[in-house]
Amino acid sequence: MAQYEAVIGLEIHIQIETATKAFCRCPSASDAPPNTLVCPVCTGAPGALPVLNEEFVRRAVAFCLAVGARVNLMSSFDRKNYFYPDMPKNYQITQFFTPIGEEGKLLVAGADGVERPVGIERIHMEEDTAKSAHLGERTLLNFNRAGVPLIEVVSHPDLRSGAEAAQYFKKIYDIAVRYLGICRGNMEEGNLRCDANISIRPVGSGELNTKTEVKNVNSFAFIAKAIDYEVERQIALVEGGGAVESETRLWNPRLKRTETMRKKSGRSDYRYFNEPDLGPLRLDPAFVAAVERTLPELPDAKRRRLRGIYGLNEELLDLFTGYPAVADYFDRAAASYPAGGRTIAALIAAELLRVEDKEHFEEVKMPPHHIAALARLLDGKKVTGPQAKELFVLMMETGNDPDEIIKDDPRFRPMEAAEVAAFVTAVLDENPDVVEKYLGGKENLLGFFVGQVMRRAKGAAPPSAVTEMVKKELTRRKK
Ligand SMILES: [Zn+2]
Repeated sequence: MAQYEAVIGLEIHIQIETATKAFCRCPSASDAPPNTLVCPVCTGAPGALPVLNEEFVRRAVAFCLAVGARVNLMSSFDRKNYFYPDMPKNYQITQFFTPIGEEGKLLVAGADGVERPVGIERIHMEEDTAKSAHLGERTLLNFNRAGVPLIEVVSHPDLRSGAEAAQYFKKIYDIAVRYLGICRGNMEEGNLRCDANISIRPVGSGELNTKTEVKNVNSFAFIAKAIDYEVERQIALVEGGGAVESETRLWNPRLKRTETMRKKSGRSDYRYFNEPDLGPLRLDPAFVAAVERTLPELPDAKRRRLRGIYGLNEELLDLFTGYPAVADYFDRAAASYPAGGRTIAALIAAELLRVEDKEHFEEVKMPPHHIAALARLLDGKKVTGPQAKELFVLMMETGNDPDEIIKDDPRFRPMEAAEVAAFVTAVLDENPDVVEKYLGGKENLLGFFVGQVMRRAKGAAPPSAVTEMVKKELTRRKK
């Protein structure tokens, strides 16, 4: 049996959040009553002229730069002609001949955790269509969405599995929504929509076979499942002597399978031509440079930096690159105690994220230098792990600095060595038989003594010190 590999490319539509629509001054909002945000331009009244929204251009350029794409200083707006009720003009303004961005690249980790580059073929600007709602025989149209700015991001067919495709989609989401803040990111409302082109071929072959398009896989929960199902379906079909047909399929989340939506017959002819009412889009290199200066540190660079400086593990790196607000908080804390990066990161993940929402981390009240101070106490063995947990709760309750809190709280008084020694002596005296077994060679009984002493010290003695003392005392009794 031949071994197959999947060849997957994604087309992702991102609604760009701007005050007004792409080519008219209608507000670009999603919560208004249907068909209230319309004008002659976005409904295609004869004679109405489009005017390009500059903020749309700025945000599209920011996205291109963020994914390492080349920004074309001259791109074209073109008409895609088709007859369908969701576009009252009978054409959609898009970029067909020359898009604003080409040849970007993102690193995506596959199931094996190894990062591979995924190419982005093109990024083009276009206007959204009206939203249709199908009610039995009837279709209702809401033109509020017609003309809302969109960018379409078309990847090369570089993805090889559903898991990889999901990672890539997540990364595009993170960049647009969390890093650049150019998209609201509500997938239920269609702010981000993803279609997948899928084909299979024998491993090692470079050919591109007939593909199917799976529509609307815009959910992190099922994108991987939908793609993997479709890949398996195609393999079974070909193995059974059949052939993959060019068609559009839909994921049925209830039955967990893709289903034929419509067969594709030849290429659709959209009779593209340059949009005569807009002319080419020319960008000043200074404009592009100015946008570039506003870009935040992006996920790949952030991962490299945090890994390089602090040696954080991949789990923490996933957390920090996925939630830039959490990473900003970490950076501010680490700035006041750079040597404590790992402890600070662990405290944020284990304590702060237990009580704070990572989606709204910019609202966290605890000052980052308080977390840094707690890390310093832990690293300096001034408090034990269990004490740090208690201290954290008090920091949340009082809003005070941990040094301030332990200063006048007897619970955090470090236990005197003499006190610990007394516990050690007592535990050994009370368990002569265990001591005898230990001295007879059962050295794994050490943990028993340490545990007993720790229990008596109620977490106030550092485990490493207790272990040392128990060992010393046992050695002494051997003689
Ligand atoms: Zn309008």
